Amino acid sequence: MQPITKLIINGQETSSISGKQFALIDPSTGKEWIKIDEADKEDVDASVKHAEQAWPAWSAQHAAVKAMAIRKLGELIAANADGIAELEARTMGKPIATLRGELSRVSVLCNFFASLVETSLSSVSTNTPGHLNYTLNQPYGVTAGILPWNVCPAVGAGNAIIIKSSEKAPITPLILGKLCIEAGFPPGLVQVLSGFGPTVGAALGLHMKIRKISFTGSVGTGKLIQQMSGQSNLKAVTLELGGKSPALIFPDADIPKAAEACALSIMANSGQICVASSRIYVHTSIKDQFLTTYQAAIQALGKKMGNALDEGTTQGPQVDKIQHDKIKEYLEVGKGEGKVVFGGSAGDGPGYFINPTVFTDVADSARISREEIFGPVAVVNTFETEEEAVRRANDTEYGLHAAVFSKNIDTAVRVAAALESGTVGVNCTSPTMALDIPFGGYKQSGVGRELGATALSYWREVGLSDTSTCKSCW
Ligand code: NAD
Repeated sequence: MQPITKLIINGQETSSISGKQFALIDPSTGKEWIKIDEADKEDVDASVKHAEQAWPAWSAQHAAVKAMAIRKLGELIAANADGIAELEARTMGKPIATLRGELSRVSVLCNFFASLVETSLSSVSTNTPGHLNYTLNQPYGVTAGILPWNVCPAVGAGNAIIIKSSEKAPITPLILGKLCIEAGFPPGLVQVLSGFGPTVGAALGLHMKIRKISFTGSVGTGKLIQQMSGQSNLKAVTLELGGKSPALIFPDADIPKAAEACALSIMANSGQICVASSRIYVHTSIKDQFLTTYQAAIQALGKKMGNALDEGTTQGPQVDKIQHDKIKEYLEVGKGEGKVVFGGSAGDGPGYFINPTVFTDVADSARISREEIFGPVAVVNTFETEEEAVRRANDTEYGLHAAVFSKNIDTAVRVAAALESGTVGVNCTSPTMALDIPFGGYKQSGVGRELGATALSYWREVGLSDTSTCKSCW
């Protein structure tokens, strides 16, 4: 598959108005491999005009028509999974075999949203005498997403959406934008802009005609997006932000299973997932047994560190030099804050590799215990009592994901309810999330929910129609 390098505006591959481009570096080799058109505020303004034209007719379509296009998009993504996986492996450094599997399942996600769109109903009330009241689920109109990709609920609810992809991974969103056209979405309904946060991102955040913005990224940028909404038109904002997710391992847990699940969580995408179990609290009595199994599981998952395009690669590089440098700095900070169990250094270059690293004996106040590292780096500490474990797990401004491992159903259910977290895995961790359950963060990990039965409600206004059914009610 050929990469797309231009912007997707009004159903066409379009050069950026300024003519500017930015380079993508292959993180497996550290070498530049392609240039991408760079959008700016003028491209945002043009996209908004097309989006304003596109959404009213789309919104007026029957729900089944919208659902059909969403399903078709899923089929097209699955059919092109191999080609997309190759380009994404080169862009992001995620191993190609993992990507292929993930992409082939995207049609399940599209089917889920298509079903939600088809079955979404309004509420009706006849409780006020002489009146028939019902809600109208109406789109915002022009919306924006500063996120990797998630257009289905936006368009399913009748909106147009302008996606600003991450400057670290712009190619897959451009391809998906093109597939949206093939799937039957009208021109201007889904547009994709590549570029940087302070330019394109801020132009979307501050735009007076954009009525809703969904953001995925760091807490710091999430706060800026909220501020931009306040400075402009109070556009609705949903935020999917970072995490420092705890996993609690009780003495009666299946220790090998817990160790493998925690290893998988911190090794997925080389630790660059928002729900990585990066803070582990293990009961003192099982610390040594857990650490031995955890180390073996992590080393098995990282057994072939290498170029993301090689079929046998199990651990790819970090996404870019910025992230690589940031993690290397955390490794040095961590050496002053705790003991290295294994790892503690960068992998062999020239790509941006990091050796999986586990620290122990780290204070809860330490930076590596509190800050999101976004790499294959975990902290393992011990606890004595359940109360202590829960208190320390909750001692964070994040609240995206948590996990509890215990064979005792009472412990598991009680602890799961006590953890201040948008999702809690019981005897499992983050990579096993469901589509039909809302996903999102407590505290500073986010605002709003994705997925689940309520997903569409974050993409529409709810109006009320008050219809008088009697001649003289008051
Ligand atoms: P980031 O905040 O640096 O960037 C995210 C996006 O925001 C990028 O597209 C960037 O260009 C844009 N941006 C940056 N500055 C901006 C500005 N001033 N105005 C508007 N937009 C701006 O985050 P990142 O490093 O790309 O992603 C990693 C973070 O994302 C981690 O914290 C991770 O946990 C989080 N994340 C969360 C979820 C979730 O679902 N909760 C999923 C994936 C990643």
